[in-house]
Amino acid sequence: MNNKYTFHKFIELKPALEFMNQNSETSRIIAGGTDILIEIRKEDKNLNPINHIIDIHDIPTLRKIKIENNFCILGACCTHSEISTSKIIGEYFPVLKMAVDKIGSPQIRNVATIGGNICNLAACADSIAPLLVYDVNVRLCSTTGDRIVPLEKILLKPYITDVQPDEILAEILLPLPEKNWKYCFYKLGRRSGVSISRLSYAIMLRSENNTIQEVRFAFGALFSVPKRLYTLEKELVHQTISNILWKDVSRKVASKILDETGVRWSTSYKIPVIQQLLYKSLMDLT
Ligand SMILES: Cc1cc2nc3c(=O)[nH]c(=O)nc-3n(C[C@H](O)[C@H](O)[C@H](O)COP(=O)(O)OP(=O)(O)OC[C@H]3O[C@@H](n4cnc5c(N)ncnc54)[C@H](O)[C@@H]3O)c2cc1C
Repeated sequence: MNNKYTFHKFIELKPALEFMNQNSETSRIIAGGTDILIEIRKEDKNLNPINHIIDIHDIPTLRKIKIENNFCILGACCTHSEISTSKIIGEYFPVLKMAVDKIGSPQIRNVATIGGNICNLAACADSIAPLLVYDVNVRLCSTTGDRIVPLEKILLKPYITDVQPDEILAEILLPLPEKNWKYCFYKLGRRSGVSISRLSYAIMLRSENNTIQEVRFAFGALFSVPKRLYTLEKELVHQTISNILWKDVSRKVASKILDETGVRWSTSYKIPVIQQLLYKSLMDLT
């Protein structure tokens, strides 16, 4: 570690929060370090006032995955490997498992955490779209108390979240879903491993007699931050499933992306590709 920084390792949450409270302007958390160490090595200007690095990776209360009162409580310092091999995640949250299995490489997944993936907030962060379709809340802790908020409320803009300098993202609270969902996660990268998402999406759908009961779409790497398309989701309730419907949905998603991001160097590639991939996924799903 660079001499500019003092490294503090905590094995309990309370003293870490107390330290953050006393030194909020000059401290930054490290969990797995797979994003922040790159910033440190590049001497990124965002780290300018920072001289304390707070290691929370081995705080046991941030590493649990358990079920309580119809929620799965997922500790923010769980690594992608721990999430992937968790029976609870495999049974109740397969879309999340599919997504974390595609992050980086085994070496990255063994240290990188889900909390770090959220708090770094790259547009292409792969775990966020699945968490959004599961309607999760997050618990943010500080010495002044906890706040529980929907995940999407803290996703402000690329690399900027609403997690305050004296707060630690401690838990992700996933409501246990009913089991009659169809689902998929798709990630497109330049290669299959160690690859940044060019686009990703998570879909969950419940239908009865070929009629949509509920559908949820979340996209990564296509908007400035991962997001759900609530208006479109609502429009689709009670509609009859058909290839014409899915073609229309794919067109609408593509046009929404274009509206929000404008024409970029990648547009001529991404727009037709998302349209085709989404159509195919929706057809495969139903
Ligand atoms: C080779 C390589 C391949 C990668 N491939 C992928 C990929 O395929 N998909 C993908 O999405 N990402 C990928 N990443 C990025 C990275 O591994 C993930 O974003 C990872 O989940 C970050 O977790 P971390 O624990 O390492 O975060 P850290 O680097 O420790 O922290 C990242 C940021 O979050 C903050 N932070 C961390 N935890 C908390 C917390 N609990 N509360 C508050 N703030 C916190 C830190 O202060 C820091 O600003 C890759 C990185 C590398 C180096």
